[in-house]
Amino acid sequence: MMDPHRRAAHADYVDGNVLAGALERLFGGEPTEMIAVCGACGSAAPIAEAWVEIDGAVAIVRCRSCTKTLATVMTGEDPPRMTFSALAELRAT
Ligand SMILES: [Zn+2]
Repeated sequence: MMDPHRRAAHADYVDGNVLAGALERLFGGEPTEMIAVCGACGSAAPIAEAWVEIDGAVAIVRCRSCTKTLATVMTGEDPPRMTFSALAELRAT
């Protein structure tokens, strides 16, 4: 893994504001249409097609192919919070 404190010879470093456009493109659309890639089995499918296990104020998002937990959404918290497990990648559509 790359040491974030070590600068690569040809890399330029700026702050996170440079990501604004890409993050808006990623998260600015219909969130359940985003493609979730499972890091356990490699399955790629819209979040809308995941299995969601409701456990009180927590929604456990599972891969439909292998049932591994992709992420957990704390739906009862304000603001809501999400932690990531086997979710390897999110793709905008
Ligand atoms: Zn999977």
